Parts: sequence; structure tokens; C-alpha cells
Amino acid sequence: MDAKALYQLSYGVYVVTCWDMGRPTGCTANSIMQITSSPATVAVSLNHKNYTNTVVRQTGKFAVSILSEDTDPSIIGRFGFQSGADTNKFDGLDYELKGYQPVVPGCGAYLVCEVIDQMETDTHTVFLAKVVDAEVANPKAVPMTYAYYHNVIKGKSPKNAPTYQPEEEPAKAAEDKRWVCSVCGYIYDGDTPFEELPEDWKCPICKQPKSVFQQK
Ligand code: FE
Repeated sequence: MDAKALYQLSYGVYVVTCWDMGRPTGCTANSIMQITSSPATVAVSLNHKNYTNTVVRQTGKFAVSILSEDTDPSIIGRFGFQSGADTNKFDGLDYELKGYQPVVPGCGAYLVCEVIDQMETDTHTVFLAKVVDAEVANPKAVPMTYAYYHNVIKGKSPKNAPTYQPEEEPAKAAEDKRWVCSVCGYIYDGDTPFEELPEDWKCPICKQPKSVFQQK
């Protein structure tokens, strides 16, 4: 089997959020699809290891923030490369509550959902949910596709993503090694040499400092 065939499936980039006993939490997701239009239902795949999975299971409710191409990419890193069990992923974010579910700033649209069924795989839960509210936050927004995230933003997939596949090691180039973020896998490709970036420069995806980058 050539697993690369699966790369030709298309996805968007979303943040699935929920309310965890007095605080908001959530995680980045890409495997979300509309199942029916009337009533509007969606299916969402979340890794068992994601704390959001636990909270959605307990509360039966979540929201989906649909990210657009101009959403700050650090939103993806903030929700995709750390755990909501031990961090407040909303810390410092100006979020809104919609149907008691948090919605991230800068999204193009959002859905508020109630779980009606769920199915388990070895690693992920597929939640089937009714859309109880939906709103277009920015009519001009161009929804971010997963391909855009990879090809334009140069983002990587967290290991918990349903579509994660280990990357092949790049061919060993004799010349320059690349600077890689050890937290999110972002590969620096700016025009300024990495060494000359200011000390307060941060990873554009996960906002970690320059010091977490390693040369590979
Ligand atoms: Fe990073």
C-alpha cells in the first residue's frame, strides 16, 4: 500500500473547542466533514490522547472554529502543539462564547455542535454531531485548506492528527543544514540567515523562542 495516496484527500484547518468545568480548552483538527445538510450534521475525528476528546466525551458539546488563510498561524500552534490538560490554551486570547462554547478570534466561521453518536478506532474517536448554531464571522475569509497550511505556511502535522504520517528524512545535503523547530517541526526558510534573526524572534507556528530550534 502506498500511504501517499492518502495525501490526495483534502482537509481544512479547524480548532475544536469546548468548555472544561469553568475554563475553555480545545485542539487543532483537520478531519472534520459535513455528513448531512438537513439536519446539519458533521463528523469530527479527535485523538484519544487529546484532552479535548475527554471533555467532548463528558459534555457532549463543542464548537468548531473554521480557520481562514489570514488567521494568525500561531493559533494553529497554540492549539496543536501543547496539551490542554496542563496549559490554558486560551491564555491571552480574546475569545467569544457562542452557545457556551469558546470560539477563537480571527476564524472565518464557526459551528456550535452537540454530539449525537460516537465511534471508536484504536487511536481516535469519531464524534457525530448536530450543528445547533452556525455563523459566518468574516464573509470575505478564504477557508484555510490543509494543503495551504503545509505548502504556504510550511506547517507540520502533530503526531495526534488523524492524517499524521512520519516524514521521510530529507536527503542529506552536504551543504547547509536546516533550522527546525523542536516543538512543532516548522523549518525556517526566511531570507535572513537564522543566526542573524533577533533574539526575540519566535517560531511563526508555535511562538516558541529561537532557542528551541535545532540544526538538522
Ligand atoms: Fe514551532
